[in-house]
Amino acid sequence: MTDPYIPITSVELGPEVERRVLDVLRSGHIAQGPVVAELEAGFASMCGVADAIAVNSGTTALIAALEAHGVGPGDEVVTAPLTFAATINAVIERGATVRFADIDPVTYTLDPAAAATVVTDRTAAIMPVHLYGLPADMEGITALAQRCGAVVVEDAAQAHGATFGSRPVGSFGTGCFSLYATKNMTTAEGGIVTTDDPAVADAIRVLRNQGMRARYEYERPGHNWRLTDLQAAVGLPLLERLADLTDQRRANAALLAAGLADLPGVTPPSVPPDRTSAFHQFTVRIGAEARLDRDTLASRLHDAGIGTGIYYPRLAHDYDCYRTHPLVGRDATPIAAQAAREVLSLPVHPGVTAADGARIVDRVRALLDPGA
Ligand SMILES: *Cc1c(COP(=O)(O)O)cnc(C)c1O
Repeated sequence: MTDPYIPITSVELGPEVERRVLDVLRSGHIAQGPVVAELEAGFASMCGVADAIAVNSGTTALIAALEAHGVGPGDEVVTAPLTFAATINAVIERGATVRFADIDPVTYTLDPAAAATVVTDRTAAIMPVHLYGLPADMEGITALAQRCGAVVVEDAAQAHGATFGSRPVGSFGTGCFSLYATKNMTTAEGGIVTTDDPAVADAIRVLRNQGMRARYEYERPGHNWRLTDLQAAVGLPLLERLADLTDQRRANAALLAAGLADLPGVTPPSVPPDRTSAFHQFTVRIGAEARLDRDTLASRLHDAGIGTGIYYPRLAHDYDCYRTHPLVGRDATPIAAQAAREVLSLPVHPGVTAADGARIVDRVRALLDPGA
């Protein structure tokens, strides 16, 4: 009998989700309503902010945050290039220009010192990405934003419940979370913006609903960004379980990190003492000293029944459609470029059992450890 395949992502919802979804289905009120409001209240409290506004995707959350802050044509947004395309698509959607600054080689997140070198008098927003669930240096980024009069928009799509200092991500600037199926909690598709600024919250609520404050009272041209009660019913039980689910991710990460310590050419993720990670991914770096290169290791692990992921195989703007795009900067980011060649994510989600974790460690060691 062969061991079952360990996938890099898995979506397990549970009976409480089924019950809540059925309740909404049977209520006849399936579009945006009281269940969305309940999800918003719970999410705001989890992030320690005054308000959370649910929208139909994480990408929309980023666009909404930028629009609410008035970021548009002529403005520049500074972000990290090791990210999902949504981060830069949101800026382009607003007609603003994306500028890239290099990442910190240990945390894989926007380095405030590097960001300081690309700010200009057009910089309207600094948009750190809390990659793999680990918060960026929010102290340095907040200080930089204050110095240059920019707002902070956090791409927290992968970091539900992660903290910097004693504060959750999403509470430093305008927080943008994804509720896509494979994220740490989900509504299938969905997103949510967190803020302490009542004007930002109000603007997003109006923009979300075609620019209407009340029925057929239009205040500004808006959008249909609404989430549905059907979707919120999926997310609510997961929000209630988020702390436990994150603890399982952290326990899996601790097991993997201990098992992979002192393996030549392998650098496990390291979490600085001032933050906690939501471990959306457990990402190791496969350096030149490793016995196999990153892609060969990934394919050997696949053959052994272990799924892996590469987030991301190229920098977000390293594609033809962005290379010559007038709104996309061409700033050099060598540290991020090297990370894109070396990162490999191993399964860490709550569906990974302790036995799975041990199997992952054993297999990686067997493939890479010359003494094994
Ligand atoms: C998933 C993700 C997004 C976009 O979220 P969607 O809900 O898929 O629109 C944005 N940024 C990052 C870093 C992501 O991982």
